[in-house]
Amino acid sequence: MSEAGTLQEKPGLDFIRARVKQDVEEGKNNGRVHTRFPPEPNGYLHIGHAKSICLNFGIGAEFNGKCNLRFDDTNPAKESPEFVRSIQEDVRWLGFDWEDRMFFASDYFEKLADFAGELIQKGLAYVDSLSADEIREHRGTLTEPGRESPFRNRTKEENLDLFRRMRAGEFPDGAHVLRAKIDMASPNLLMRDPTLYRIRRIHHHRTGDKWCIYPMYDFTHCLSDAMEGITHSVCTLEFENNRPLYDWVLDNVSAPCHPQQIEFARLNLTRTVLSKRKLIRLVEGGFMSGWDDPRMPTLVGMRRRGYPPRSIRTFCERIGIAKRDSTVDMALLEHCVREDLNAWAPRIMAVQDPIKVTITNWPQGKVDNLECPFMPNDPSAGSRIVPFSGELFIEREDFMEDPPKKFFRLAPGREVRLRYAYFIRCEEVVKDPGTNEITEILCTYDPETRGGDAPDGRKVKATLHWVSAAHALPAEVRLYDSLLTESGPDEPEDFTERLNPDSLKVLTNCRVEPSLKDCQPESLCQFERLGYYCADRMDHEPGARLVFNRTVSLRDTWAKIQKKGE
Ligand code: ATP
Ligand code: MG
Repeated sequence: MSEAGTLQEKPGLDFIRARVKQDVEEGKNNGRVHTRFPPEPNGYLHIGHAKSICLNFGIGAEFNGKCNLRFDDTNPAKESPEFVRSIQEDVRWLGFDWEDRMFFASDYFEKLADFAGELIQKGLAYVDSLSADEIREHRGTLTEPGRESPFRNRTKEENLDLFRRMRAGEFPDGAHVLRAKIDMASPNLLMRDPTLYRIRRIHHHRTGDKWCIYPMYDFTHCLSDAMEGITHSVCTLEFENNRPLYDWVLDNVSAPCHPQQIEFARLNLTRTVLSKRKLIRLVEGGFMSGWDDPRMPTLVGMRRRGYPPRSIRTFCERIGIAKRDSTVDMALLEHCVREDLNAWAPRIMAVQDPIKVTITNWPQGKVDNLECPFMPNDPSAGSRIVPFSGELFIEREDFMEDPPKKFFRLAPGREVRLRYAYFIRCEEVVKDPGTNEITEILCTYDPETRGGDAPDGRKVKATLHWVSAAHALPAEVRLYDSLLTESGPDEPEDFTERLNPDSLKVLTNCRVEPSLKDCQPESLCQFERLGYYCADRMDHEPGARLVFNRTVSLRDTWAKIQKKGE
C-alpha cells in the first residue's frame, strides 16, 4: 500500500490547514477564512469530489470561516440542470451546508466581460483572428518559444470594438478569440497569451442564448474566487501550472481581493475509475444501470449501495492531504464503511441461498416466538420477535454431506447451534432422485437447549443463522464486487476491458426474517454472518417487494482472495 493509503487514525494538520492557520495567525485577510467547492455541472460527484468537499467545507468550519458552493458552468456544451440538482443533493447528503452561498460562474458573465474590457484598456488583452489551429502552431513547444500573432498589436480601440462585436454576435463561431497579452516566450506554455474568451453559439442551461461568447476556465475561476471573497482557493495538482495565470489575471484587473491558490493531490482509488469522462462512458455505454449503479464510485452510487455518509467523511479524513499523487486501496474505504456499520447496524437473520431443514421431532404446528436482540452486545438497542418452527431454511453452504476435516458446520450425524434457538442434529438427507441434489435436511432438536446452551455442557462447533420457512419473506439480494479487476502490468488501452465480469450477482431466492417486512428504502442492517445490507433506494417496496444491496461483506474478502492468488 502506498504511503497515503495507510491509516492515519489521528490526522495532524495537513499542509493546507497549516498554511491556513499561519495566514490566520499573521492576520492575512483580517484573519478571515473563506473557501469554496467549485464543481463543473457536467456529471455526478464521485468519491474524489468528496475529498475536495470535506477539505473545503472542513477548513471553512474548523477556522470559523465559510465555504461556498459554486458551479463552474462556463462550458455549456456538457452541462445540465440535472447535474446542478444532483450535485446539491450529494453535497447535502454528505453532510455539508453552503447556507445561502450557492453561486454560479454564469451569474458573473457580465462582470467578467467588464474585467476583460479592463484588460483591453490596459493593453493586456487583444482580439486574435488566427484560427484555432494557427494559434496552436504559434504556441511553440516546451523547448521552443512561441511566435507572436500578427494581430497581437491591434490598438486598444480596435480591440474594444472587436470584443464588443464578438459579444454582440457579429462574427461566426471561431472567427476571433480574446487573448491575454503576456509572453509568447514564457517557459510556462499556459502563459503564452492564453485565450480568455471564445465565440460559441451554444445554449446555456442558465443564461439561455443571451451570450455567444464564453469565458475560459483560467479567466473565470480566479475572478469568481475574488468576487466571492475567497481567501484560499484549494484545487488539485493539475492546476499547479495554472497558478501563475491565476495570479496574473488578479494582479492586472481591479479585483476586490487576491485569493491564494493551493494545490493538493487528487484521490485515486484502486479497482475503480475517478474521471468524469470515464464515468460518463460507463453510463452512456450501458455498462452500468445509471449514475447511481451501486458499483459506481459516485456519491449517488455509494448512497444506493448503503455507504453511510459519515463513513465517507471518515475515509476522507484518514487518507489525509498530500502534495504528491498516490493511489489509495479501495479496501480502506470498505474498512471505513464496515467500521461505521459495525457500531450501529441492527443484526438480522437472512438466508441467501436457502436449503430446507425439517425438524422431525418438533411438535406439529408449534411456533416459538424467540426474542432476539438487535445488537447482541447492547441490550439497549432493543429486540424483535423471530418465529421458530419445525420447517426452516439455512444457508446451503452451511451443510456438507461429506465434509472435509476443517468443516465444522452441519453434516450427517453432527450437531450445531441455531442462533438464539436450539441445538439441532442432522439425521438424514433427502435427495432429488433425478438430479441427486440435496433438497432437504432432516434433523432433530434438543428442547433443553433453547436459547443456545446445553444443560449437560456439551459443546457444538458452529452456530448457524436460519429463518422459519413459513414465516420468512422472499427477497432479492444483490451482491457487488469491485467495478474493475486489479490493474496489472499490461494495462489495456480501453479501461472497459478491465470491467469485472463478476461485479454484480443477483440472488432472487433469498429469505429474510419477517421483521424486515416494512423496512424502509435505504435502511441498513447486518445479515448475521453474511455482511451489511441496505434496502435498495429505488426498487425496494416495503411490504411488497424486498430488495437488498450488499453494502460490504463482514471481512475484507478481497484481501483473502489476493493472498490465495499469490
Ligand atoms: P474529472 O477530472 O473527473 O472530470 P474535474 O476535476 O473536472 O473531475 P470538477 O467538477 O471540476 O471535476 O471538480 C470539482 C472540484 O473537485 C475541483 O476542485 C477538483 O479539483 C476536485 N476534484 C475532482 N476530482 C478529484 C479527485 N479525484 N480528488 C480530489 N479532488 C477532486
Ligand atoms: Mg475540473
